[in-house]
Amino acid sequence: MNRSGIHRSHAPVTLSRERPHWRELLARAVTTPDALTARFPIDVNGVRGVVSRFPMRINPYYLELIREIGDPVYRQCVPDPAEVEDDRGLDDPLNEEGLSPVPGLTHRYRNRVLFLISSECAVYCRFCNRKRKVGRAAMTTPESIDRGLGYIRDHSEVRDVLLSGGDPLLLEDEALGRILIRLRRIRHVEIIRIGTRVPCTLPRRVTPRLADMLKQFHPLYVNTHFNHPTEVTREAARACGLLADAGIPLGCQTVLLRGVNDDAAVLGELMQKLLAVRVRPYYLFQGDLAGGTAHFWTPLKQGIRIMGELQGHLSGLCVPHFAIDLPGGGGKVRLMPESIAGTKDGHLLVKNYQGKVYRFPDIS
Ligand SMILES: *Cc1c(COP(=O)(O)O)cnc(C)c1O
Repeated sequence: MNRSGIHRSHAPVTLSRERPHWRELLARAVTTPDALTARFPIDVNGVRGVVSRFPMRINPYYLELIREIGDPVYRQCVPDPAEVEDDRGLDDPLNEEGLSPVPGLTHRYRNRVLFLISSECAVYCRFCNRKRKVGRAAMTTPESIDRGLGYIRDHSEVRDVLLSGGDPLLLEDEALGRILIRLRRIRHVEIIRIGTRVPCTLPRRVTPRLADMLKQFHPLYVNTHFNHPTEVTREAARACGLLADAGIPLGCQTVLLRGVNDDAAVLGELMQKLLAVRVRPYYLFQGDLAGGTAHFWTPLKQGIRIMGELQGHLSGLCVPHFAIDLPGGGGKVRLMPESIAGTKDGHLLVKNYQGKVYRFPDIS
């Protein structure tokens, strides 16, 4: 580990001058059961059963981060028979379709919308809460993008547009740029946010050209998504640095996942490393109740306990908001361990991060 906290020894892709283009990396992705079992000695039938229902894509960059079968990177991207065997969960856990006035756009909060503009990702995460539809050609179309833009134009209460998918950065610069130009023509849209896992799963997609294009559309925020410290490589640091140098504030939306990062030490290390690559942790999400993801679920109380273990031990800048996104479309709710232990003699009893109780006057 060097001083910036990044494991150089694990940097998976050599930084040679002849680096393949990101489209080439995607073309070489593992997408079929046979290609996967050529790589790992696992049962091909189990994989077939999953892949016929939920697509697989593991590009060579992300694949190289796997050190052994069952490790945190492996679990995030390699299909698990539990995805089709465990029938707990909901098709659309956040009721995105029910709150969708036009296809591909969800209007849950009055002043901001979620707008899906891409069907593809660089890696298909096994825990995806949109796995019912991500990776299928028909998820977003030029028509759905036109209609989404039309809806935003017609709704002057919308001040903040979250672009997602799929992954918006899987669009070519020009296609993404055209959407951003059309969004910026809408006077009431103040903030544009892009949700993307590309800095983590395909950092080479982040080029100086992309960063130059994006910086024309400020105020523009990027929320990326890292789940484990191994993912914060030198390449990922480079990608984040390019975006940060373009003046784009970077956040991270991590998902709490059983067997991947359900541990305060692992998450603390991740958050510290993110800050070192100029990414400010934003949310730590309780896993959504999406069908095919039950093997990743953790007890809600465990997440709250982990928050208690992070808070105070790490810089406040490193500590994300722990949140559940309520099933049925209730929205995000932040959860924290209770710190008021009671009242006594006109004082509140407040627990600090070490569990010690201090008194603070109950001012009225
Ligand atoms: C998460 C989400 C938002 C944004 O929520 P913030 O708390 O502002 O980050 C907006 N719309 C939908 C539908 C969402 O799921």
